[in-house]
Amino acid sequence: MDHPVDLEKILNSLPIPFFYQDLQGKIIGCNQSFADLTKRPVEQLIGINAYETVLRPNMKQHQEADKALLLTRSPQQYEVETEQEGHISSCIIHKTLLNDLGTDYILTTLFDITEQKQVEQHLFFQATHDELTGLTNRSEMQASLIKNMARAERYKEPFSLLLIDLDRFKIVNDNYGHSAGDKVLKVFANIAQHVARDSDLLARWGGEEFILLLTNTDAIRATHIAERLRATTEETPITVNAQEINVTVSIGVASFPDDGKSIEELISRADGALYEAKRNGRNRIEYANRRDSGIFSIGTQLQRAIQENQLLPAYQPIVDLKTGAIRAEEALARIILNKDQVTDAESFIRAASDLQLSHKIDHLITRETIERCVRMVKEGDKRLHFINISADLLRHPELMDNIIQFSHEACQDCEFPDKQLKPLVIEITEREFIGNVQSAREFLAPLLDIGLQIAIDDFGSGYSSFQYLADLPVSYLKIEGNLIKRMMREPKVKRIIHGIRDVARDLDLITIAEHIEDQHTADILREVGIDWGQGYYFGKARFD
Ligand code: GH3
Ligand code: MG
Ligand code: MG
Repeated sequence: MDHPVDLEKILNSLPIPFFYQDLQGKIIGCNQSFADLTKRPVEQLIGINAYETVLRPNMKQHQEADKALLLTRSPQQYEVETEQEGHISSCIIHKTLLNDLGTDYILTTLFDITEQKQVEQHLFFQATHDELTGLTNRSEMQASLIKNMARAERYKEPFSLLLIDLDRFKIVNDNYGHSAGDKVLKVFANIAQHVARDSDLLARWGGEEFILLLTNTDAIRATHIAERLRATTEETPITVNAQEINVTVSIGVASFPDDGKSIEELISRADGALYEAKRNGRNRIEYANRRDSGIFSIGTQLQRAIQENQLLPAYQPIVDLKTGAIRAEEALARIILNKDQVTDAESFIRAASDLQLSHKIDHLITRETIERCVRMVKEGDKRLHFINISADLLRHPELMDNIIQFSHEACQDCEFPDKQLKPLVIEITEREFIGNVQSAREFLAPLLDIGLQIAIDDFGSGYSSFQYLADLPVSYLKIEGNLIKRMMREPKVKRIIHGIRDVARDLDLITIAEHIEDQHTADILREVGIDWGQGYYFGKARFD
């Protein structure tokens, strides 16, 4: 049959390289694409051994495929990779038998898949790594943990997990901006990568939390690595926009098999330990142990206490430093575990906040306190009632409405006209609302409308207190207890207290010093001109 176009021409113009050879490997023919690939003219290729060309690096693979082809007489397909000057190219080789007048030939076709491979690898990398830090991501880490657990069980090897969380990272974002925060995360990832050994695996576990898998490492060796990471982080200031930021980390450590037999259990233990590290002051390491500790057990106790009415307010007096008269009291949440055991708020407030239970506590304590306030007003007691309110409560409009409605009714009963200042003071901490004074203002508006007043709690412990004074209608300033303690030893801190006093006077605010534990401190604060005081010296919190 006549062909309108020369078949050889068609084959030559095909962009897919191919050649055919005899069973000794000698090239009988090839197309231009193959010649281009081998960088030799077609004439030079005819007659030479196929494996003396670009196929040489994978000669063994090709020869095995040839054998299989002859044996099975069915086409063979396989993938090869070659490396030239650091550049890896991938190719799918297809081999099939041709038979001409009883003689076998092998036709080899080469499909270049380098680009697809690169795209695939890129996609795989994206799916398994964190974009910002380039570290392994959470889902890939989970897969690695499963593999590692299987190996550890099989070879009876220990391993350890470090759960690492940057301390007060929110403040970095708030003070320097989100992109500075991002840079800190990247640099920290580098620091941690540097501390980790080749056999370890570091991943970004979420936000500003990282996890380090220490393979074949028991608790004692894990301790050393955790400490090295903690110390290196503390000692390495991170420069962002020409400013040095000091970052610290808290670390929870759990080891297999001592602290748990499953990955979930180990992570939960490490998480509990991390939570303890935060609670114990941050920039430290805590270890999981069998003791029932950590956020979950505290969380469980808290849930139960709320359900079973074991959560109650205790009231601590706030005293006029000049006259010694009780001017107010603060309602503090307490859990009554049993008749003789009372747990104070310190030990569960962070858990409550992490588990988003704070609003329940606040709601409960606020209602109790409003009732008490009404009772005392009726009895002619003029003291003020301070209540702590978290941002979490303000995010629950239904509870806020309930409180507003409740105080409305209570105040009518009390014959307090609307809009008049009520003897109820809401304490807010700057940490709760950091960087978000505007929303604090909006949230607090309905409470202010019914005549409640505002106190800034823990003044001097944070970073943006003065903005609060500028932006919110504050009436009371509670000076943080640690500052009061330091004032007794450090003249400089005493001058700071003087400064706070001056600002407060200027703004017509009443100052309250917290954590006063002895008469000497009370005397000095009175001399300084602080108005009121609170602390063990005047009385611990008591139930009604
Ligand atoms: P703590 O010491 O208790 O851990 O305090 P913290 O402020 O570090 O903890 P918190 O969980 O309150 O805040 C974590 C912050 O991390 C809040 C979030 O906006 C920030 N963050 C999470 N992921 C990223 C990120 O990818 N980039 C930046 N810049 N910030 C992030
Ligand atoms: Mg943190
Ligand atoms: Mg965190």
